[in-house]
Amino acid sequence: MAEWRENDAQWYEERMLHCATCGRMIAKRYLTDVIADRTRIFCGDGCLALFRDYVLVERGADYRPPADTGERYKKLMVK
Ligand SMILES: [Zn+2]
Repeated sequence: MAEWRENDAQWYEERMLHCATCGRMIAKRYLTDVIADRTRIFCGDGCLALFRDYVLVERGADYRPPADTGERYKKLMVK
């Protein structure tokens, strides 16, 4: 079950949290839930729903972009 928590890092600590769906940096409050045996962090209800309904279904639990994304992008760009 999803639950809201607060990042208890002190102002001098570099403990950054990022949303598992959109990648946005989360300063204070975040939503956490266990999905596919891993605790994941989200910036809000919308990103949690999007992760369950789209990211998990279409890309899988541990999706990473292909290593050659930069090269493919350069080739496909119109000059
Ligand atoms: Zn997000």
